[in-house]
Amino acid sequence: SIVRSHSGDEVFSPTRKRSNNIRLASYGVEEYEWALGWMNEQETDETISIRLDDSENKNGLIKVTTITLSRERIGTEVLIANPTPSAPNDLVTLDHFHEPTVVECLRRRFAQGHIYTNTGPVLIALNPFQNMTDLYGEDVMRRYWNHAEQPALDHDDLLPPHVYAIADNSFRNMMRGLEMSVSSSKKNTNQSILVSGESGAGKTVTTKYIMKYLAALSQRAHQSAAGRTRAYLNVPSSHSSSDLNSSFSIEAQVLQSNPILESFGNARTVRNDNSSRFGKFIQMQFCETGRLLGTAIETYLLEKVRVVHQSEGERNYHIFYELLSASVPEEESVRLQTRNRMPSDFKLLSSGTYVRRDGVKDSDTYQELQKAMKMIGFSSEEVSDIMAVTAAIMHASNTIFDPKVDEGCCVARDNAHVTAACQLLGIPIDDFEEALCFFSRIAGGQVYRSPQTVERAKKGLDALLKATYGALFEFLVKRINNSICGHENGHSSVIGVLDIFGFESFTTNSFEQLCINYCNEVLQQQFNTFMLKNEQAEYISEGIDWDFIKFPENQDVLDLIEHKTDGIMSILDDMCKAPGASDKAFASEIIKRCDKQSCFTANFKDTSPMFSIKHFAGSVEYTTDGFLEKNRNELPKETSELLRSSSSKFVHKLADIIVDSSSNGNAEASKTRTVKTVGGFFRQQVKDLRQKIDATYPHYVRCIKPNAALVHSEYDSAMVAQQLRCGGILQAVSVTRDGFTLHYSHEDFLQRYQVLVTETAGKVTVSKQAIEIECKKLVDTLLARIEEEEQYHSNKESADDLATEESAV
Ligand code: ATP
Ligand code: MG
Repeated sequence: SIVRSHSGDEVFSPTRKRSNNIRLASYGVEEYEWALGWMNEQETDETISIRLDDSENKNGLIKVTTITLSRERIGTEVLIANPTPSAPNDLVTLDHFHEPTVVECLRRRFAQGHIYTNTGPVLIALNPFQNMTDLYGEDVMRRYWNHAEQPALDHDDLLPPHVYAIADNSFRNMMRGLEMSVSSSKKNTNQSILVSGESGAGKTVTTKYIMKYLAALSQRAHQSAAGRTRAYLNVPSSHSSSDLNSSFSIEAQVLQSNPILESFGNARTVRNDNSSRFGKFIQMQFCETGRLLGTAIETYLLEKVRVVHQSEGERNYHIFYELLSASVPEEESVRLQTRNRMPSDFKLLSSGTYVRRDGVKDSDTYQELQKAMKMIGFSSEEVSDIMAVTAAIMHASNTIFDPKVDEGCCVARDNAHVTAACQLLGIPIDDFEEALCFFSRIAGGQVYRSPQTVERAKKGLDALLKATYGALFEFLVKRINNSICGHENGHSSVIGVLDIFGFESFTTNSFEQLCINYCNEVLQQQFNTFMLKNEQAEYISEGIDWDFIKFPENQDVLDLIEHKTDGIMSILDDMCKAPGASDKAFASEIIKRCDKQSCFTANFKDTSPMFSIKHFAGSVEYTTDGFLEKNRNELPKETSELLRSSSSKFVHKLADIIVDSSSNGNAEASKTRTVKTVGGFFRQQVKDLRQKIDATYPHYVRCIKPNAALVHSEYDSAMVAQQLRCGGILQAVSVTRDGFTLHYSHEDFLQRYQVLVTETAGKVTVSKQAIEIECKKLVDTLLARIEEEEQYHSNKESADDLATEESAV
């Protein structure tokens, strides 16, 4: 086993030259490969021995293992630990820096209740899995903004790392940029806060705290502009009319987007009871005074398949259970025909898992949802349309298709659910049956109508439910944006907060995982570029003596996936257009065209074609089954036409959204629109996202899940280490730890610090040379001051010593 020694011996200096081998994460490692030991100092020149204290056995005896190793192994297999109590706020300050020491520092901090730790510019956030009310109160917020607003009071030490500090920093950066842009043409005031981590690590909770803090700062900016000094968030707790929205502040409305998105886009999974099944980029728009003007929300890849299928131990989207909860008023459940119904009555909720483990009640979230919709300004008609479609999806999932004696199938009519679904969707039951049980083809100018098999009718129904739910979600996002989004050109700056799915590697990985992992590769490249490449390139350009740190380049993986002609996604798009193509044919094609790439491996297992990609966070094996269908996003035109024939205007709107986003052969649509595949559309979204982030100053929060049991008392070192590796955090810290953590342009530097050079304040011109001269003067002044102080203290000490001696005498 690999061990590390525990010694303060200066002979074994920190290993600045890190190993170039970045170990790749593989899920399921049980024991952490580093253990704490004590080095015996009395060894020979060639060897060292290390004592490892294994855990106590059942007789209370500690098992001790001693191993002897060659001294050469110090720095690779033996790493020097830090003095025992070391658990600093910023890991950059550690004497000895390497993965095991970071893992242990985080463990110590976690045990002391410190969930946030800085690592240079990256904030590591450990999920506490318990309510930390004291950590997020308004008094805590006030401490952070007071600190930023009164830098003269030197209370640096008092402020531990916090997600509020990151939010505050981005806000101040933006405001400083805005102030400067008034006096110069330079204008890059936009910021982004990129929150990442695996499922259940705490991204969404973190994002909500960031939004809350920024909203509070906005209100504060507004109120201080009005001559007041303190501000509170104005979130009234109850109201009676839907058009009250104008009485709510924009800040309160922006925060209310969360309960709506969570009801419709979050679900219980095995990893997280409130797992976001979509990604989001929240762009908060501010004016020059720091007031929030609005917010634009962009969402990514809602997991539509969950609507018709959930794995064991998982639930469907929260909204379905909320609609069956005790909070729904009687007249509403009568209207929705869900009165006295249980989740087990509906096929789409029949996974057998009905409640949340985190104690959150569907009846409470139902009420929060209703309140949020009103505050954002949804009319009562809109709310009732939305709920009707949701309930219709539930009812429709219970449709039973009976085979006909001769050919085809029909909808079993003695089923109250089907009647309810059709009523709520505003479509005649005959049309519903016709759309699902028949399909029509046009040949030679003639329309031919053919019956569908039961199996195909069921597939058609699933497609209809998924598409309708997807359109409903899209409608909600658009509707929220309509209410809370500021005007395009009315704002000065944006702070974008990204809460997006982390890297995924399951036993079976499909098209969805490929999309998610592709997005993570893009974000990792952005992170590497910003943190490492730019940083080191700058040191080189500034002529700083620098030991270059190697970091993983992932352009090869990106090329493999996104290359315009030979990338996996392009090949997939081509195959989707080819008539009669299959998943197997797609597998053969990628193997033919990608096999030479080092990050790609083809492996056929049984009948399922598989391929592996060596991602930055580890190798993932994908099965090609279902790739074509998932990428095509087709909805039979019979079903989209069915929704268009509805008597409800709201259902028409959803039909329009479906036609807009689908790639099916809807004749009139495909004439005017470019055909969209899921992968193609997502690739474009990720490209836009990267461009948006590149146009901002980024801040990073890496959320870490301390254990898989979702409990507050456990810290699993191996799991934490894996997540640190996945986030490329250690490499970034190495650079910032040895390097320079603050960068200012000469102009910014002057703006901030010229006040220190009192005699020239306001007179220095912006030139590198002039600033260097001023800095030198400043350093000389400071050195002289330090010398004076030292002199003063040593004089004082001698005087004190003399006094002590005299009194002793
Ligand atoms: P996913 O990718 O599945 O959406 P996520 O990273 O967004 O996961 P969250 O939903 O934010 O994870 O967090 C999971 C759960 O962990 C929360 O529901 C909450 O119970 C707990 N949690 C996370 N962060 C905190 C925190 N700062 N304080 C208290 N509990 C937290
Ligand atoms: Mg989430």
